[in-house]
Parts: sequence; structure tokens; C-alpha cells
Amino acid sequence: MTKVVVIGGGFGGLSAAIELANKGFEVDLLDPKSELGGKVARVEDSDGNSFDCGPTVVTLKDVFSNLFTKSNENIDEYVKFNKLDIIARHAWSSDETLDLFADPKKSFEAVAKFAGIAEAKNFHEFSTLAHELFTVLEKTYMKCQKPGMLKMINAIGLRGSKCLLQAGAFNSLWEKLERTFQDERLRQLFGRYATYCGSSPWEAPSTLMLIWDVEMQGVWSVEGGVINLARALKKLAIKKGVNIYKNLCEEILSYNGEITGVRLDNGSHILTDKIIFNGDFNDLDNYLINQRIRNKRVVNYSRKNRSLSAITWMMKHKTAGFELCRHNIFFNSPYRKEFSDIFKKGKIPSDPTVYVCAQDRLNSGSLLPGKEERLFLLINAPANGDFAKISKTEMKTCQASVFSLLKKCGLEIDAPQKVSISMTPQNFYQRFPGSGGALYGRPTHGWLSPFTRPSSRSKISGLYLSGGTVHPGPGLPMATISGQLAAEALMEDLGLINQ
Ligand SMILES: Cc1cc2nc3c(=O)[nH]c(=O)nc-3n(C[C@H](O)[C@H](O)[C@H](O)COP(=O)(O)OP(=O)(O)OC[C@H]3O[C@@H](n4cnc5c(N)ncnc54)[C@H](O)[C@@H]3O)c2cc1C
Repeated sequence: MTKVVVIGGGFGGLSAAIELANKGFEVDLLDPKSELGGKVARVEDSDGNSFDCGPTVVTLKDVFSNLFTKSNENIDEYVKFNKLDIIARHAWSSDETLDLFADPKKSFEAVAKFAGIAEAKNFHEFSTLAHELFTVLEKTYMKCQKPGMLKMINAIGLRGSKCLLQAGAFNSLWEKLERTFQDERLRQLFGRYATYCGSSPWEAPSTLMLIWDVEMQGVWSVEGGVINLARALKKLAIKKGVNIYKNLCEEILSYNGEITGVRLDNGSHILTDKIIFNGDFNDLDNYLINQRIRNKRVVNYSRKNRSLSAITWMMKHKTAGFELCRHNIFFNSPYRKEFSDIFKKGKIPSDPTVYVCAQDRLNSGSLLPGKEERLFLLINAPANGDFAKISKTEMKTCQASVFSLLKKCGLEIDAPQKVSISMTPQNFYQRFPGSGGALYGRPTHGWLSPFTRPSSRSKISGLYLSGGTVHPGPGLPMATISGQLAAEALMEDLGLINQ
């Protein structure tokens, strides 16, 4: 039986491990964290309130279900999902709010009421195009191991190429939105999808509009928190025979340019010539690969080439004045400044967009009035956790601007100064050292950037890559797909499946 070592128990590592165990490989998975799931994590405050402190928006449920189905298991027996009626509630002020719904008709009506019938028609066209784009790119890009530009154009054919041209594939997302909507607020709302890849809407390619289609296909909440999805994957991995070791891999070993094994933090070694690495891919270059191999640079990473980081706050309070639903976005202006602050000036935006996840709500009205509720707030921030420290004064100023925006939109939080837990780029850097605090690998900036992400095969024979920092990109479903692609590449190289 071929032994494979999977380094890292994020979604990319877990899915790779499950795929390979299903095919009869002996799989050892290493992760020093007490809970698997990587960025999916849960923290508890001193009063015993627990919070999802990583991903909160779960999409493309099928990606996870398929992993279970392929393992002859039923995901619903492991973890419970609820499809949300309201995808998200968006606010610009106390009398400017817009809900987008799982039901497209309801969204159309809401946009018409918010911005007029002409904009609702533009919204309908935009949604149709986003859906076509998703359909065209799902197999030819997202689920393809190394999608080169020409290979993809060949695969998508004439209809697909037309769709790409219609989307303005060589333009930025913002340019596409300027051509689509008159209403600046709608541009902002859909431009924000670039941040799901840690990018600026002014730099990201217009093709990222397909993320809107991903949300239209469904946004789910996971009962008990997203951590329960990670726990379900872990349970499945164990059931399929994956050996899980609570260890850090300190070094990837090689001899004559070939992978030979790993050295763990307890000094022991595991011998193998097949490794799937699920950490931040920058870590490979930073410290993991031994010197001989390191000369063949695996990645080329600079401080400038980093995606967004975040500042987050978690608290349990009563809210009033603004009916929260599960996912709420509060917009500031001017929007462009947020991204020039972060990407050009490397500073915390002075007027950030604020995302609020009301973790105890399914939809609006699903919480008794006056009851305390758990809130998770997030703003975008520069990924400078390895070389800049946010001072207490900066943090206070930032927090004040966040709560003043919420207030402007009508949301009153009793005792907003009482934050249970907060996280900064520095904390994210400490948790994920190779990243500098960047949460999504490299930013997707420029129309070619989707083709320049590292793919499943590294330049070193026997070493494969998975996770949100490699193709097809960040986000839970994409990281899960990347694990499957890495497993597939490994099996192809062993001649077990056709290329
Ligand atoms: C605050 C925040 C909010 C987010 N919001 C969303 C959202 O709403 N929806 C969404 O879909 N995505 C969201 N994301 C992005 C998503 O979480 C990630 O893209 C995804 O989880 C990345 O998975 P991964 O496979 O790359 O593994 P990671 O989650 O990066 O985990 C990697 C694992 O590898 C382990 N590891 C690293 N090095 C070693 C080593 N040397 N030895 C052993 N183990 C090692 C680490 O301990 C870690 O557990 C968010 C991320 C953050 C941080």
C-alpha cells in the first residue's frame, strides 16, 4: 500500500486525505492544532460563549456532500445544514437597505424597489451572465488541475468564449459593474465579491462576478457552527482509515531531489515519497523544504503580493434599531479608498465596509427581541502581520469608526466597547506563519492571475499542493476541490488514473 503524508488538516488537506483513503492509500495526516479545520475555528470567551472565528458563509454544499457520497456516506448523518432565505442584508444608512434572497424573483423585486426597475433588469442580466460564467468555468477551470489560458479556451468552445467576452474577461470587476449598473451602491455590493478572494474589485478580473452565482445557488448555515463541518470531515477521514497525528511537520526531507519523508516536531520521521502539503504554500519556501530542494524555488513571494487580511471582533450583546439577519454588510464611502488604503498605503482603512455575522440567527426575526446574541464583525485589513503592529490607539480609532458606521445604519449595540475577543493581521500571521496574515494567498489581481496560482503539482516530484493558497483559490469549497485535485494528480502520476 502506498503511503501518503498529508501536511495540514484544513479543508484542502482533509479532502485530499479522504479521497486517497477511499482509493486504498495509507494516509497519515499531520496537524499540530487540537481541532482540525485550519482557518475554520472556534474560540471561547471568558464567559463560555463560543464563536466561529473563521469562515461563516458556507456555499456550494454539493462540494462537501459529494465527498461523503464518494465515500459511501451521507453528509446529513454527520452535520446539519440550513439553507438561508436571505443571502445577505446590505445597508448604506438607516433608510437604505437591500436584501438579496435565495429566491431570485424576490431579489429582483427588492432591487426594483431599492434602485428602480431599470436597475432590476440590469441585475437580472448580470445574474444570468454570472450563472452562465459559473457553468462555463466550473469544469474547465475550477475542477481542472492546471488550467492554462489556451487549454481553457479550447475546452469552453465558442459559446463559452462568447460568455467570457460578454463578461469583459480582460477588464476589472469594477469596470464590468460600471458598465452594468448606474447605482453606485449596486456596484459596491457586487464589487465586494472580489474580497472573497482577498482582492480589490478595481484589480480583480470581471470573471469573479461568478461568486454572485455561487451565492445564488445557496448560502447555508451549519448547525452548531462551521466547526461542525470540519468535525464531520475529520470523522469521515477517521472512518476511512486516515491516521491523524497531532504534530507539526518541521521539515520535508529529500535525497537527490526526491521526496523521502518528513521530520516531525517530536524528532520522529515518517518515510514516504508522496506528500500533499496543505499549509500556506509560502511556508514551503520559508522553512519546510530542506536546503538541497530549496534551491529549486517552489514559490516566489513578496510582501507586496499578498491578499487581504482582516480585523475581527467577537462579542455577545443585545442589539436594537436594525433587524439583523445572519449575514449583514454595512457599506461606507468612498469605496475605492478602502482598497487604496489597504493595497497602496498598507494601512487599516479609515472607512471600512463592515461585515456582521449574527451567529444566533437563521433569517431576520429568528431571535427573540431583547435577547443577547453572538456577533462576529469583520473588516478588511492589510496583510502586514509579520512586520507591523497595530497600536492600542489605532485599534480604538478603528473600532470607533466601525461602530459609528453601524450606528449610522441604525444598529445599536449595547456596550460596544465590551469586545470579548478580537483578532488582527498579527494574530492571523501567528496562526498561519507563511501568510504574513494574508488569508487568501496571493490576490487575484489582473486578468491573468487566475492562471498563475500554483497548481496541484509542485516543481518537486512527489510533492503536491492543496488549499486556499493554490488553484482553484480560497474559500471552503475551493480549498476542498483543491484537495481532490491534488489527490487526483498524485494518482495520475502513479498511473492509477488516466491524465
Ligand atoms: C476570518 C476568515 C473569514 C473567512 N470567511 C470565509 C467564508 O465566509 N467562506 C469561505 O468559504 N471561506 C472563508 N474564508 C477562507 C477559508 O477559511 C479558507 O480559504 C480555507 O479554510 C482554507 O483552507 P485550506 O485548505 O487552505 O487550509 P487552512 O485552513 O489554511 O489550514 C491549513 C492547516 O495546515 C496546518 N499546517 C500548516 N503548516 C503545517 C505543518 N508544517 N505541519 C502540520 N500542519 C501544518 C495548519 O495548522 C492548518 O490547520 C475565511 C478565512 C478567514 C481567516
